[in-house]
Amino acid sequence: MEQPLQVPVGRDIRLADFDPDHHEGFDRDDAEAETRRHCEALDELAYRLFAEARRAVVVVLQGIDTSGKDGTIRMLASGISPQCLDVRSFKAPSALELSHDFLWRVHAAVPPHGRIGVFNRSHYEDVVVVRVRKLVPRGVWEPRYDQINAFEKLLADGGLTFVKCFLHIGKKEQRQRLEDRLRDPKKQWKLGPDDLEDRQRWDDFQKAYDDALTRCNTEHAPWHIVPANRKWYRNLVVARLVRRTLERLDPRFPPFDSSLITRLD
Ligand code: AMP
Ligand code: MG
Repeated sequence: MEQPLQVPVGRDIRLADFDPDHHEGFDRDDAEAETRRHCEALDELAYRLFAEARRAVVVVLQGIDTSGKDGTIRMLASGISPQCLDVRSFKAPSALELSHDFLWRVHAAVPPHGRIGVFNRSHYEDVVVVRVRKLVPRGVWEPRYDQINAFEKLLADGGLTFVKCFLHIGKKEQRQRLEDRLRDPKKQWKLGPDDLEDRQRWDDFQKAYDDALTRCNTEHAPWHIVPANRKWYRNLVVARLVRRTLERLDPRFPPFDSSLITRLD
């Protein structure tokens, strides 16, 4: 099965064609060791981005319930200093948020220059859960794909680099994870009736994601489909991706004014 992490722009994406178990033949120990190496490199790169303070990065994490968004954030935070990181979670919108356009709260959460933002869910909920649960009519969500592309272009032109990750797990794996949550007192709080209802609409969610991934896969903000049935492989893929993105940006410390040396008394 062909399994590109980044699907060429313009190609139709069907999640059913991607294997959530894919792991490049890695075993857990090797993957975890390599992830640690990426995290060490990330710490230094993030610090340079922070010092340079001219550009920003945002890691967008999408995926159905239990796909591993929280765990991915824990991994990134283990490598990057908190002052360089800006984590935002998007829940069902408040009354205030609903009284604005759907991108208002997202724009306000965009990281400032120098920071790596992480979005735990994002504006993609507005073309996925909103569509599946029929929270607004088709005439409202349908134009949103173009609106999202225009919004992401505006931000990209302003110096923001997107790393959009779809954490792809299989239906059987989700059942296992939901069952673990139901049985584990430390995880039960994460579960609500919505999660079980959403599982019953599995096929509708997959279809809504197929469309979001296809229609919002652009040169300025491409999607990555991260096989996520194995948590350690998911972490490896995201760590490597964020590291490569920062290496490409190659942030520099600002120029040093050497006259400062003579001014130290
Ligand atoms: P969790 O991420 O598990 O804490 O849950 C957050 C919940 O908020 C999920 O069920 C999301 O689908 C929901 N949510 C996030 N954004 C939106 C949105 N724009 N409209 C409706 N529901 C949303
Ligand atoms: Mg949930």
